[in-house]
Order: sequence, then C-alpha cells, then structure tokens
Amino acid sequence: MSYVKSLKCTICQKEYDKDSGFFTCPDCGEKGILDVIYDYGQIKKVFNQGFLRENRDYSIWRYLPLLPVEKDHISKTLRVGWSPLLKSNKAVSIFPCKALYFKDDGQNPTQSLKDRASVIAAVKALESGYDTISCSSTGNAASSLAGNASRLGLKTVIFVPKRAPIGKLSQLLAFGARVFKVDGDYKAAYNLSKKAIEHYGWYNRNAAVNPYLIEGKKTVALEIAEQLDFKVTDWVIVSVGDGCTIGGVYKGFYDLLQLQMISHIPKIIGVQSIGCKPFFDAFHESRALEEVEELTIADSIAVGIPRNPVKGMNAVRLSYGTFVAVSDQEILEAMTELGKTEGIFAEPAAACSYAGYIRAIKEQIIKANESVCVIITGNGLKDTVNALKQFKEPILLKDNLEDLIKYINFRNEEEVNE
Ligand SMILES: *Cc1c(COP(=O)(O)O)cnc(C)c1O
Ligand SMILES: [Zn+2]
Repeated sequence: MSYVKSLKCTICQKEYDKDSGFFTCPDCGEKGILDVIYDYGQIKKVFNQGFLRENRDYSIWRYLPLLPVEKDHISKTLRVGWSPLLKSNKAVSIFPCKALYFKDDGQNPTQSLKDRASVIAAVKALESGYDTISCSSTGNAASSLAGNASRLGLKTVIFVPKRAPIGKLSQLLAFGARVFKVDGDYKAAYNLSKKAIEHYGWYNRNAAVNPYLIEGKKTVALEIAEQLDFKVTDWVIVSVGDGCTIGGVYKGFYDLLQLQMISHIPKIIGVQSIGCKPFFDAFHESRALEEVEELTIADSIAVGIPRNPVKGMNAVRLSYGTFVAVSDQEILEAMTELGKTEGIFAEPAAACSYAGYIRAIKEQIIKANESVCVIITGNGLKDTVNALKQFKEPILLKDNLEDLIKYINFRNEEEVNE
C-alpha cells in the first residue's frame, strides 16, 4: 500500500482523491498539473537512515515508501537508479569551488535520467491494466519508455520529432517500439501524441501531465542526498527542457526535508541553451513563460513550449536558485572537458548542466566556499553525430612503426609551437 494521501493542483491548490484517476485538475485544465501528496507522518514510521542502511536494493525501489506505486511489479523491472556520484578530481581544480560532484545518470539502463520516470509509468500502466503506453519525446523519454515497457511486456507507441538523433531512434527500434516520426518539431510530435492517446485510450507517459513521473525523477535527489550521507551540497545544477526533471529534483529534497533527513534544500540552478530559453527569460523578466523557437543542438532540452512551467519555476524559486543560459559552443566545450578531465561522456543536453556550472563559477553565482552537485542527465553515445563534430578525424596509418614515430614527433612539435 503506498503512502500517497491525495493529488493536489499546483494552480488552485484543490485536492483530489488519490484514486480519482485525474492527471490534471478538472477546474484548471491542462496547466493544472497535479502534485502527489504523501502522508509524511506515516512514512516517518518506516523510512529513515536506519531503514536505508539495512536496505540492499540498489535501485530506485529502495525508496518505495516515497513512491506512488505498489510493490507487486517492482521485482520485474529493469534496474533503474543508484547511479554513481563521482567527486571531481580534476575539473574542480580548473573551475574551483569547495567540492564538486557529478551524478552520472547516463549509467541508467537506457542511459538517461528518464529511466527513473519511465519505469514508474510502466509500473503504473500495469497496475491500471493497460497494455499500451504512448508518449511524444525528443528522444530519451521515448527510448527509456520503450525499454522499461518492453521489459514488463507492454507495447509502446512513440511520436518523435523529425530531428531525433540516431542513437535514440535506434534504441526505440531495438526495444520494439512502434515509432512515428512527425514532420515538424517537438510541439508537433506532442500534439499528435495527445490526439492519438485520447483517440486510442493508451496510457499517457507525457511527463508533464502525468503527475507520477516527477515522483520517479525525484529519486535522483534522494540518491544524491543518501550518497552524501545526507549532508547535501549548497547547489545542485541540472539542465531544463519541459521542467519535469528540475521539478523532480526539488521534490526529492522537499520530501527529505519534510522527513527531517536533511537540513536544507540545495539551491537549484536550471540551465538552458541560449537558443531555447523560455524558463530563463521568464525567470529573469519576472513574467509568465512564452513560446520560443527551438534552436539548439541539445535536442533533449529543445523545448519551445515547456509543459511543466509551474513545477519547473517553483523548483528554482522555492530553493532560492536561479536560471543560467549557455551557448551551444559552451555546451560542446563542456562536453569535451568533461570527457577529458573526468572520464564522463555526456550528451549535449547533459553537458549543458556542466556548462552552466562553469558559467555560474565565472559569474560568481557560486562562491568559492560552496559545494556543488552537477547532474549528468544522459550518455554521450545517444548523440555521437554532434560529439564527433568537436574532434579531428584520427589519422590513418599503415602497420609501420616508423610512420607512427614520425607522426607523433611531428604532432609534439606542433603542440610545442601552438
Ligand atoms: C529530458 C532531459 C532533460 C530535461 O528534462 P525536462 O523534464 O524536459 O526538463 C535534460 N537532459 C536530458 C538528457 C534529458 O533527456
Ligand atoms: Zn486546479
């Protein structure tokens, strides 16, 4: 039995029965996204540091009392979560702060943080007796859904924008999804999926409107806290598209604060690309979000109309954080740096959070005596086309040592002269 108490509208604050079946508030419409409310008093009786110390389940299910699912299906899922939290060895000496950590969520089963949401969607669909799940996605939501659903014997119907990267597309096909490419951008894919889901009555994994998905994403924050022995960093940085991931990060820390397991919620920085920064603009101009174009190589965060503006904005406001915007060039440089200095290969949208860190250090938003956790949301193998644009093609040699020596000497001289 889960500890969910009710579902509460993020706009009008009205509460609905947890079994109402609503995804959004009937009074406020599609923007009235619901928030899952828990009975923290009851959770406290079973969930604490001691419970976690005894817990050998190194997946998101170790946090089951804080999740909106029953335990019936969880033993059958892929192993999602408990990704490594790496303390920076070298990057921190180049762009210094008190302590720098990377939460490498590219190491999830389908290589992105989205697995945390998709596994919840798949379990919820099973619990409710659906046999097909659908979503529109710029890539990771879809590929993670396809993987997590196929593992549980569910069918998936996926709508992707025309420019979905080949790595993500090949995952979809490998996991047996039925894929429709929509001629247009993410907005077009979203709109067609919405119509199709209504028409066919499939389970809806569109992250913003399904209130349970943020609950999966929040486990990244639960893990960061636990991996730091509940002494959380001053800042947490994450890239932002629809706003669900950052909303989840906030919710995870919020839960732990309600349970008195952490002393404060870290200040959260949301990072967007300069080519598509509706949250950044709205935040700094103190106004509502407005539709923008989607002009960035970071496809996972190329979202012109964010579907979760309230939760995304609240995460930053309520944590006293901020939004930062970085150029595609900064993203690609951050990606190269991260690979070279820390051994982490991030896709552009994931390297974006590290680019945001570098900028926040340069702009002194983050002070030298503060600690930081940068969330790496997806693996670099998702989009090798953009990654390869950053590098020179390797030289082609014959099987001949002299040639190699000549070439290496030549390159060394070149580097000295540079
Ligand atoms: C989806 C995604 C994000 C952003 O999450 P939103 O919920 O859309 O804000 C960031 N990075 C990666 C790799 C993603 O797949
Ligand atoms: Zn409402």
